[in-house]
Amino acid sequence: MPFNDLALDPRLLRSVQHLGFVKPTDIQAEAIPAVMVGRDLIVSSQTGSGKTLAYLLPMMQRLLKSRPLSKRDARALILAPTRELAKQVYAQLRLFVANTPLTSALIVGGENFNDQEKLLKREPDIIVATPGRFVDHLEHKSVFINGLEVLILDEADRMLDLGFMPQLTVINKAADHRLRQTLMFSATLDHAEVDELALALLKNPYRVAVGASYQQHQDINQQFYLADHLSHKEALLSHFLQQDDIKQLIIFTATREDAERLALLCQTLGKTAVGLSGKLSQSSRNSVMQAFASGKYQVLVTTDLASRGLDLLQVSHVINFDLPKHAEEYVHRIGRTGRAGAKGTAISLVGPKDVPALQRIEAFLRQAVSYSVVPGLEARFDGKPAVAAKPKAKKPQSSQNKAKAKPATSIKTKAVAKPQFFQGGDDGSAPVKRKQK
Ligand code: AMP
Repeated sequence: MPFNDLALDPRLLRSVQHLGFVKPTDIQAEAIPAVMVGRDLIVSSQTGSGKTLAYLLPMMQRLLKSRPLSKRDARALILAPTRELAKQVYAQLRLFVANTPLTSALIVGGENFNDQEKLLKREPDIIVATPGRFVDHLEHKSVFINGLEVLILDEADRMLDLGFMPQLTVINKAADHRLRQTLMFSATLDHAEVDELALALLKNPYRVAVGASYQQHQDINQQFYLADHLSHKEALLSHFLQQDDIKQLIIFTATREDAERLALLCQTLGKTAVGLSGKLSQSSRNSVMQAFASGKYQVLVTTDLASRGLDLLQVSHVINFDLPKHAEEYVHRIGRTGRAGAKGTAISLVGPKDVPALQRIEAFLRQAVSYSVVPGLEARFDGKPAVAAKPKAKKPQSSQNKAKAKPATSIKTKAVAKPQFFQGGDDGSAPVKRKQK
């Protein structure tokens, strides 16, 4: 289906043609008609799928075709988790706005607040923003969204991981009316908080899932190595750290203590390494991330997923020292590498305690993983779940022994007790931590 069949405004079509785009991508072909008939939308999509135009085009179509609900208020708001993404979206938007009477503004953190106030005084129709700074302006009454017609959340899951739920709630309330259309994009929809957000924001949404998240990451070489125990994992890690094709590396660990210990281990092996954990304040976390993004450190060791907020183009390797509790987190972790078409390597160390997590990952990826081996560091462990020991056959007991014998139930309990690997603490599991809301 060519773009011409989408019944878009000729001004928008002209810009599409100017960019040399002939056919909508799958996501555009599905999403644009649904939005044009006024439906709310929830889309699972990745960067590279053409998602930006999937929302920009129908949003602008609506603004061009309908009268503003309010003269003063912003008509469309696009929220993005990071300044980088907001700027990228704004650059695309500018190409389309140029051909129309619509006006736009970019409002992100880190830039002069007063200058932004001046921009907002001009009452732009479309605003691209990061949630934190936008809410600052809302509270300052430099912007009003009571008459907002379209609310768009780009990379909603990342916004949630960055702790933006409170800001999204404020924005939702400030623009709470029946005529608002809401479009939500997320790399994954298998995310409890995304569900919760969708429930709060969307009315009877049309769902689009093009290229489910398990199909992504062709640019990432995923490797799995078996390890017998903690020190075996450390020996493997030391081996991988010696490889010279590592530009930057992120190591994910289960516990804060491991993060600190492994950062030290990396340092003793001559690497510039820094640990990031939930123990640090938000501003210290930000500065660690900025320092890592700027290349000051080669290795980042982290317990949580704070790093999801940044596009770290130099990350050539990710090592899962422990596997994450949720399979979808595995996909996000390895997605820290292989960005923007670059090749990446994701190495996962699988110890006996990681087996349940591995099984979930295999189910999510819809394939069994195969293991690689480092010569000299082979594991005795075969990757199979531990089989519960069978209760020993009872020996016939003499009447004397019978008195001392333990009750049969205690033997049974011991035999079927499952190992508790995901209780947090030093147990080898990777808690999925979200930032404080
Ligand atoms: P996005 O997923 O929105 O980041 O888009 C990824 C890239 O695809 C961007 O460079 C877009 O300019 C480009 N793109 C978007 N839509 C189309 C299309 N229909 N045909 C060809 N390229 C497109």
